[in-house]
Amino acid sequence: MEIKNNIKGLEAELSGNSCRLIAVSKTQPIEKLLEAYAAGQRLFGENKAQEMAAKQGALPNDVAWHMIGHLQTNKVKYIAPFVALIHSVDSLRLLEEIDKQGKKFNRIIPCLLQVYIAQEETKFGFDPAEVLQLAEKNLDQLYPNVEIKGLMGMATLTDNTDQIRAEFQKLKNLFDQLKNRTLPPNMHMQELSMGMSADYKLALATGSTLVRVGTAIFGERIKSNHE
Ligand SMILES: *Cc1c(COP(=O)(O)O)cnc(C)c1O
Repeated sequence: MEIKNNIKGLEAELSGNSCRLIAVSKTQPIEKLLEAYAAGQRLFGENKAQEMAAKQGALPNDVAWHMIGHLQTNKVKYIAPFVALIHSVDSLRLLEEIDKQGKKFNRIIPCLLQVYIAQEETKFGFDPAEVLQLAEKNLDQLYPNVEIKGLMGMATLTDNTDQIRAEFQKLKNLFDQLKNRTLPPNMHMQELSMGMSADYKLALATGSTLVRVGTAIFGERIKSNHE
């Protein structure tokens, strides 16, 4: 019941904005995902390829699976046949592997470029200048089995809302800048993935189209060594 109410509450906040809710279900057991599904949730986010593949087999076919965590190239194969959107493309090597797997499974895999906007040293991603350079390339020839649908970013983990807002705004500015350019045929600025439980309201106000919310739906996660 709690999961359902959390989802309904978030949906009410998002309605009126063209922003969709991704339920971040990493580390959560299947029963909780099914509870969210029963409440109408169809977009789920995971950060580990094998965990996503296992859950995909256990949930109905109309779930859209979003990869939101750092993805190692040797793990792309586990999700390539079904993944709806890979938010966390943070290197050309990864883009190349996604293209290769897309070819193998005869599909075009939707992706976002992860952009480094936080002050923290540990966050993955391209910096804005690299994204602008990438947008100049013949991406449709280099990576024909990939479609770049937008950008993803994570703000610094801080209580300073001015800083978070400025970081989201930086990503939004890059998004708008690209939107006004002629981009390669397989690159479109449609999705801007930003905002988590702690900062989704700020992200929404800054133009996010996909918020990735975990704990505010499912409650606290059991901490793993990887976090
Ligand atoms: C875990 C995670 C989230 C969700 O975090 P919450 O604070 O639980 O909402 C969002 N985005 C990414 C990339 C994550 O790894």
